[in-house]
Formats: sequence, C-alpha cells, structure tokens
Amino acid sequence: MRIGVIAIQGDISEHVEALERALNERGEKAEILTIKHKGIVPECDALVLPGGESTTLGKLLIREGIADEIQEMKDAGKPIMGTCAGMILLSKEGDEQVAKTHQHLLGLMDTTVNRNAFGRQRDSFEMELELSFLESPYNAVFIRAPGIVDVGSDVKVLSRIDDMIVAAEQGNVFALAFHPELTLDTRVHQYFLDKLF
Ligand code: GLN
Repeated sequence: MRIGVIAIQGDISEHVEALERALNERGEKAEILTIKHKGIVPECDALVLPGGESTTLGKLLIREGIADEIQEMKDAGKPIMGTCAGMILLSKEGDEQVAKTHQHLLGLMDTTVNRNAFGRQRDSFEMELELSFLESPYNAVFIRAPGIVDVGSDVKVLSRIDDMIVAAEQGNVFALAFHPELTLDTRVHQYFLDKLF
C-alpha cells in the first residue's frame, strides 16, 4: 500500500507522523510518499491533502498538474482526506472571498465552503467534538478553520458546531475543518485508514 501526502505547503510532517502512528497501532505497513510533483499521485492507494493556505495550495496543485491526478484518483474510488485548507480545496463551491480572489477549488465534494468560518472570531481553538463515527468526543484543534455551509444530498455530515459543518464525507472523499494530525489521538486517521485496509 502507498499513501500520498501532498507536500507543497502546510503541516506535512505532522500528517506523515500521524499516519505512521496509526499504521503502527493497527499493525499494518504502508509506504508514505510526500508529493511535490506530478507523477506520484497515480501510484498511491490513498491521499492526504493537508492544511496550509488554500489559495497557494490550489494554485500550485494546478500549475504542477497534480490537480488532474487527484481528480482521477477520486474517480477511481481511492480514499482521499482533506484537512482544513484541504477541506476548502475539496469543495465545489466557495464563499465571496473565494469568488473575489478567483480561487481555484478542486471540487471533489458537493459542498459549499466558508473559507474562514471560524477565523475572524477566534483564530484558533480546541474543543471536544462529537464525530458521528466515534464513540466518544475527539479533542479537535481548529486553526483559522473553514466550515461547510451547504451540502448536496450525497454528502454525509459527520460533525457540526452549531450550524457549521466541520466534518463530512462523500463516497471516498473525507473532509475535516480541524487538524487531526496535531493531536496524538489517532482515531480520525484510523477512520480514514479503515477505507484502505
Ligand atoms: N482558512 C485557511 C485558508 O483559507 C486555511 C487554514 C488552515 O489550513 N489552517 O487557506
């Protein structure tokens, strides 16, 4: 098995370490590939799109030709997880800020995202979050976090904070507004790996 982590910008090593911890815990082996250029995504069985700055990430993914490969990966039914800026990029539609800056989204999920849903009020915070696939709350770290404001009928909502959707999935694509790679609790990465093993 090969798991790719897009390594253009953002919290890359944290995701690699979280995946390694999760793999160790479940006694599985996989090669983790960090991806900066075209040609590697097609070799991967699963992919992580980390947080960072979504405008820069989106631009570089398109310029490097990686965006099309990610689309093909989705079409092939392979698991894809996007966290924070990754969640923004996975969405089909954005808010006014996205439109104003002509930001390119990958559009792999039938979701509408507010890029800085939590950013202006509180830059970052942690909270005990209920996720529908976990039996007990998860300590979630939010950093200038986005939120999903609208979803199509094929999207499964996995968690909300008030009216804002902070975790969702559609088929093989899984998106989180928070950063599971910044805590030692591997349950979110395990949920993702369950789709692979
Ligand atoms: N809100 C940020 C953006 O628009 C994402 C923040 C993050 O990934 N920590 O890119």
